[in-house]
Amino acid sequence: MNDLFAAFNLRRVINASGTMTTLGASRVSPEVIEAMGAILPYFVEIAELQRAASQAIAKATGAEAGCVSACAAAGITVSVAASMTGLDLAAIERLPDSSGFKNEVILQKGHEVNYGANVSQNIRMAGAKVVEIGTVSGCGVYQLKGAITPQTAAAVYVISHHTVQSALIDLESFCQACHQAGVPVIVDAASEYDLRGLLAKGADVVLYSAHKFMGGPTAGILAGRADLIHACYANQERGVGRAMKVGKESIAGAIVALERWQKLDHAAIQKAEIGRVEIALNALSGVRGLHLETEPDPTYNPITRVLVRVIPEEAGLSAYELSQQLAQGDPTIKVRNHHTDRGYFLLDPCNLEDAEMELVCARIKEILSASDASRTPAAPPNLADLSAQAMHNWPGAKGGEKRP
Ligand SMILES: *Cc1c(COP(=O)(O)O)cnc(C)c1O
Repeated sequence: MNDLFAAFNLRRVINASGTMTTLGASRVSPEVIEAMGAILPYFVEIAELQRAASQAIAKATGAEAGCVSACAAAGITVSVAASMTGLDLAAIERLPDSSGFKNEVILQKGHEVNYGANVSQNIRMAGAKVVEIGTVSGCGVYQLKGAITPQTAAAVYVISHHTVQSALIDLESFCQACHQAGVPVIVDAASEYDLRGLLAKGADVVLYSAHKFMGGPTAGILAGRADLIHACYANQERGVGRAMKVGKESIAGAIVALERWQKLDHAAIQKAEIGRVEIALNALSGVRGLHLETEPDPTYNPITRVLVRVIPEEAGLSAYELSQQLAQGDPTIKVRNHHTDRGYFLLDPCNLEDAEMELVCARIKEILSASDASRTPAAPPNLADLSAQAMHNWPGAKGGEKRP
């Protein structure tokens, strides 16, 4: 393990940001690694393996059926394709040319988020046309009803901390209005803990990432109506999803991760996480330039994070600069930095050890004690431009001699 980091010239990462696919998503548990290793040396009928996955997903979620995909983003494309083609194999082979069949997919504007790609791109990859409804700050059932036409193939609903969190349509009302018109609802719940509630609220297909909270391999878990899941499987094996194929090791790993997740002592895990939050609150309270709060997860996942607000006039640093300095070291410390332009970042306890949380806090104190409080920090950069810039600074482009 250490050898691999040395051999590839990789930095160690202390992950205070939560579950990020750009950081390798999660620590895969030993049982899951064992299952992946156990199946790799053998041939297996993928259809039989997907049958086992379907049974495991149905049991865990209460869905009629399930399927493992390459990832949740692939699951969006495949399930949108399924909503357009059903089991029509000629149609499945014709996508992304969707002319001649229902091909409109409804999405609330406040749900058009980016998780590395935009939701709408993963919908369009199936050949569908995205029909955005409402405004970025609000959407009503009347706007959903007004957008449904005979061409509507599906509606996509996103549950994520990235979305607008208020004045949008709740899932139950969304499903009700769609079902009145015979439109299936696909729910992107990639990063959500709730395995049963979303289907219970009426979702026809729900997508989860196996590699986020479940601690599985990179894979998507699709749960839902048997006819739609069957069509998802067909589109994955023979259609647009073929380019997003999932291997036997990830299917096996996802099944074991799902089963393991159900047996975990979640109360004990949450207690340990709260303990880590307290470590940070104790370590950082009274530090010049910081105001601390706790913040519950915006989509009701059972995670409480530490909100570290940086007061530039007291710290001589902005929240953005502090997060940058934390990231520059070796090990690199990654904080949850979606809102540094608003003057704060979050520390997520879910992927940290206690000692790592202590180290993060010690590093924050070290940086602040070295900062010149009389300095006036520059305004933070535009975060969207910043993340685009990271693509231009790809270290591999110049032989990888320098890390960004
Ligand atoms: C992470 C995420 C995705 C992408 O999931 P992958 O499994 O990594 O493809 C899609 N939607 C939301 C809301 C996410 O958080």
